[in-house]
Amino acid sequence: MTDASKKTSTRRSSASTTAKTAAKKAVTPKVIKETCEPCDSLKVAFGRQLRYDLSRDDQSEAGMFHALAIAVKEQLLDNWRDTRKADIQQGKKHVAYLSLEFLMGRAMGNALLNMNLTDESRAVLNDYAVSLEALEQQEHDAGLGNGGLGRLAACFLDSCATLDLSVTGYGIRYEYGMFLQKIVDGYQVEQPDRWLRDGNPWEVRVPQHNVTVKFFGHTHSYTDANGRCHMLWSDTQDVAAVAYDMPVPGYRNGRVNTLRLWKAEATNEFDLAEFNQGDYTEAVAAKNLAEQITMVLYPNDSSENGKELRLRQQYFLSSASLQDLLRNWVGQHGMDFSEFAKLNAIQLNDTHPAIAVPELMRLLVDVYEMDWDPAWDIVTHCMAYTNHTLLPEALERWPVRMFQYMLPRIMEIIFEINARYLDQVAHRWPGDTAKLRNMSIIEEGPVPHVRMAYLAIVASYSVNGVAALHTELLMSGLFRDFYELWPEKFNNRTNGVTPRRWMAYCNPKLASLISSKLGDAWVTDLAKLEGLKKFADNRSFADAWYKVKQENKAELAKLVAERCHVEFDTAMMFDVQVKRIHEYKRQLLNILHVIHLYQRIINGDTQGMQPRCVLIGGKAAPGYAIAKLIIKLANNVAHMINCDPKVNPWLRFAFLPDYNVSAMETICPGTDLSEQISTAGKEASGTGNMKFMMNGAMTIGTLDGANIEMLEQVGDDNFFLFGLNAKQVEELRRHYRPWEYISASEGLSGVMSLLKSGHFNLQEPGIFDPLVMAIESPTDPWMLAADFEAFRIAQLDAANAYQDRQRWTAMSILNTAASGRFSSDFTIAGYRDHIWNAK
Ligand SMILES: *Cc1c(COP(=O)(O)O)cnc(C)c1O
Repeated sequence: MTDASKKTSTRRSSASTTAKTAAKKAVTPKVIKETCEPCDSLKVAFGRQLRYDLSRDDQSEAGMFHALAIAVKEQLLDNWRDTRKADIQQGKKHVAYLSLEFLMGRAMGNALLNMNLTDESRAVLNDYAVSLEALEQQEHDAGLGNGGLGRLAACFLDSCATLDLSVTGYGIRYEYGMFLQKIVDGYQVEQPDRWLRDGNPWEVRVPQHNVTVKFFGHTHSYTDANGRCHMLWSDTQDVAAVAYDMPVPGYRNGRVNTLRLWKAEATNEFDLAEFNQGDYTEAVAAKNLAEQITMVLYPNDSSENGKELRLRQQYFLSSASLQDLLRNWVGQHGMDFSEFAKLNAIQLNDTHPAIAVPELMRLLVDVYEMDWDPAWDIVTHCMAYTNHTLLPEALERWPVRMFQYMLPRIMEIIFEINARYLDQVAHRWPGDTAKLRNMSIIEEGPVPHVRMAYLAIVASYSVNGVAALHTELLMSGLFRDFYELWPEKFNNRTNGVTPRRWMAYCNPKLASLISSKLGDAWVTDLAKLEGLKKFADNRSFADAWYKVKQENKAELAKLVAERCHVEFDTAMMFDVQVKRIHEYKRQLLNILHVIHLYQRIINGDTQGMQPRCVLIGGKAAPGYAIAKLIIKLANNVAHMINCDPKVNPWLRFAFLPDYNVSAMETICPGTDLSEQISTAGKEASGTGNMKFMMNGAMTIGTLDGANIEMLEQVGDDNFFLFGLNAKQVEELRRHYRPWEYISASEGLSGVMSLLKSGHFNLQEPGIFDPLVMAIESPTDPWMLAADFEAFRIAQLDAANAYQDRQRWTAMSILNTAASGRFSSDFTIAGYRDHIWNAK
């Protein structure tokens, strides 16, 4: 034994004795704040892990990544436990953030940054002749989300921990996360994302916190000796929910919150009947049915598919999380729920977990035997709902029949909630049966449905949109009747992104340049970036700023070369649109513009043209045919452009496969021009737009979502605005004649002719016809043709501006300087003060 390992083993045994004493202490009501045992240094922990982990090759980067992750997690365990204890002791308000999606990405770099262990890790790895960056690349993204909604949940967790709030994220531990996207012959091909195959070093399985979730079965009532009526839900098929905890460290403040992800497992009783009949192997095999629930993330962004398994996921998450909350409550306060709503808030990330409303009623009334009215009082004082979209196809509706057989007790409770609520509506609008029909939680018709958004609004004390325009449109459109009934419930909380991951971590060069002038307080107080304004015209600062951007562009070019085999030249302007592929986001408008530039070049019209590299990336939902066709068009156009040596000096175009959080960490620092070009009134907020702005990209965009607030902050001299606004879009719908816009625009008619000629699909005639038809249709909801000319001109402005390096750099600095409002710290401070009341 070497000296080092002897020392290690003594420390280990003393640590485990302490753990036992701590466990004993925990049962006594008064928790004594313990001093932290001197724990192993990162170096010792890493060395030990590397040496004793027989499951991995200690020389490989994958093995070293795993060892480092375990060592980092160990450093955080004391703070994690202390955070839990302190929150209980101090009686802090607790928030449960319920979300079917947490798009976390990689954890290592963020954990090291927040714990201030980056330099120490580098020093440790120095002895092993391996770089931290190389190890970081080994981590699989935790891709437990589709896009903006899931990434918002991840940014919120970081901000909650950093703002020292007691917030637990509750989600699902999908075995398979967001699919991996391959491009084959220009087409998207989906492959399963087995992100857990090498183990997840960050998670801690907590089997003692198992709960049981019921499905199917029957309900019946009985009256007890005291004359109280009880409902029984029996003959159910039970599924065990097993907790897996992931640490969420705040930025250098000692707090470690928890992301608790539930995994579905068979209960021991599972299919006992069959087992008793002797079908042992059948019964064991049937366990798969239970475990299916958390097998895979549904890959639909902004649309519903109505699959039964999805409803099961929603109930599984909601029930497990609420049971966990109530068990903790009863453990601390006994059966006295009088303070529950004061000390708990439950935030619903969209309607996906809205089934938590009837589930909380069920638990309080059926299990904890409260009367309906006090139970409803609790529910309506702790539920808060965030709406994320105005797109009608995204609004969740579940067939009543599906509810009735899968969750019979829950459906009864929804009917009861609806009946009592409709009394209120009838009272407010006497004799107005249309109102009753329109506002009912149950949508009548040949196939009655439960409207999940209405259920969420009725039960919530707060309903918020995610950008100013979005909230206004909710109040004046989609939820107008509810706004009339309960104006006090409605509020806006404009989204944000965490500056830890999206600046300090992903753009270290820019971060240190900024800190050299402002100090580093901006990392937790992003408004401080305003201090950059006075350096916008400072020559040496601007030169340093430009140099950082060029270096970041080189990194992005490397990524594009590796993944797309296209050379991006950092002397050209980098024009980027990465986000889910959706018609409303109008990647097609971007491609049409690229085709227009291509035509100009072919025609020799290159006088004064700014050379540019265009990058598009994003996944399409596997069932969304038009979105997949847009990907195919991007790839075909890219191929044509990149193969043509005449075009190359002016224009390069690539489609980046498998856009995800890690890719974005390289993309946003290296972008000059950020495309945020959705049809006005359709993008609820956008958060990609904010990541780009923080990292000094200029935005070309419409008056949609948070773009409007970004423009307000930065001023229209520093933003390339174009297109119809939301009101004009709605007005134009009534008499939209796209062909008039096409013939009036020389650029667009040229593009449409070339597209129709089959120039980009010589081998596959006719494949792009659906796209052409969509553009030319008077019912095109996205109004591409109407905005093309304005877009073309805004692109010209951007190109011209880029040619004046000094002017462009100043604008870039001013964009970063004005981005402070879009820190998720600001957003979360708003939730804290105006929704959670958790100051
Ligand atoms: C930020 C982010 C999004 C959201 O992008 P939008 O442009 O707001 O749609 C989606 N996916 C990933 C991986 C992100 O990092």
